[in-house]
Amino acid sequence: MRLAGGRQVGNCLVAGDQCGVSDCLRIQAQFIVASPWEVYHPGQIVIRNEKLVEVCASTSSRPDIDLPHSVLLPALVNPHTHLEFSDLDQPIAAGRSFPEWISAVVKHRRENQSSNSDLASARAKSVIAKGLQQANETGTAVLGDIVSMPWQPNLLSQRTAEETLASSQTATERRLINDCHRHFPANTGTRVVAFPEVIGLDAARLNAVCDWAESLLSGHSQINADISSLVAIGVSPHAPYSLLWPTVAEFINRIPVHIPTAMHVAESEDELQWLRSGSGPFREAFERLDLPVKPDCRNCPTIEQCIGMLSRRKHGLLIHGNYLTNGQIQQLAQSPSISVVYCPRTHAHFGHHRYPLPSLQAASVRVVLGTDSRASSPDLNLWLEVVQARERHAELSPQQALAMVTCDAARALGVDRDYGQLRAGLFAAVATVASQPHWNTLNLLEEMTLTPLAVRPLAAAIDQSR
Ligand SMILES: [Zn+2]
Repeated sequence: MRLAGGRQVGNCLVAGDQCGVSDCLRIQAQFIVASPWEVYHPGQIVIRNEKLVEVCASTSSRPDIDLPHSVLLPALVNPHTHLEFSDLDQPIAAGRSFPEWISAVVKHRRENQSSNSDLASARAKSVIAKGLQQANETGTAVLGDIVSMPWQPNLLSQRTAEETLASSQTATERRLINDCHRHFPANTGTRVVAFPEVIGLDAARLNAVCDWAESLLSGHSQINADISSLVAIGVSPHAPYSLLWPTVAEFINRIPVHIPTAMHVAESEDELQWLRSGSGPFREAFERLDLPVKPDCRNCPTIEQCIGMLSRRKHGLLIHGNYLTNGQIQQLAQSPSISVVYCPRTHAHFGHHRYPLPSLQAASVRVVLGTDSRASSPDLNLWLEVVQARERHAELSPQQALAMVTCDAARALGVDRDYGQLRAGLFAAVATVASQPHWNTLNLLEEMTLTPLAVRPLAAAIDQSR
């Protein structure tokens, strides 16, 4: 970013003489939405060393940058996606049953695997970078990414695949290098909380996955200085139907409670039928698989056990919860460390029953919004989830909807000390939208949360305005 009358030194923005503090950048905007309950019209923010040092109503201090037709808001936080499917141009069809969709997803993953580990790594980097770029361009500062074995932090490296495959000679590899190159912007900007996915229906596979997840958590794997986009590593026992419960329960108990923990729970009616009676589409799907031991629903946890496990974590994320019962919602109400992640467009993709948002809200359960992956959602534009949620739920207030992708989402991921609000001391993770002539302080959030806005990172908007 270049400043009028200023200069840029490393990461420190040095503004001109007009700024009240010598080494800071003062930006004025028509509206500043500091949080869902705090709006300034007009307002100013002051940034120093990538942190906010002041957020306030306009003062007599002259701004370095004035944005008279813009709204500034906290950059968004997306608690749930799977970046590994960011190469899909459109979602995978829901199919006749949930297991049928899972089979199609697994097939897509296998088709993109390669026996050449360098090639597989370069391809994975390219796909992840594509997803991060899309999230960044639509105003997302941080996202929770479910990662599958053998993911390693270096897949988030900003280095190009050209270095990784410097010695490659074949045409296929050269094409791949070019493809990767395209998807690496200088700095993606969006940061990641990675959740290694613990999944496996036989003990050998499950133990291998647990070892991989544990090695990531213990930091034995290479976390290089250039992987600045990795904020933290969590853990994700996949879902009640895809793992052996006593083994996974013991594994999670060994992991420190502050590690964010996410699990897909009560996602489909097929899942509940399998857990209840061992019958239905999951049974048929398991019978078609060539597994050494046929899965047994008696080895699966109940939904209540999953909620119990998540409630003992400092940051438990219950993903989906489309078919939670009133009793389970009451259990969640007793578990304030759990956030439920609702993915509205994914919910619509599968044609699920009405989402139990009113019951969750009545029980004061924290609900946040995620995109899920591009295997079930057309893109990673989190604001479109806000609009979808408001259109589907008249009871959802604009303040609540905004909190679900900012402060509450940051709390769900355990990053609320740095992200989710515009407040002194937090990172200057700022997003912006163009304001419309009829917006005022009374209708601002109502209008914004019902409009499919082009939310962008502030730095990109300023660059473009110059
Ligand atoms: Zn998911």
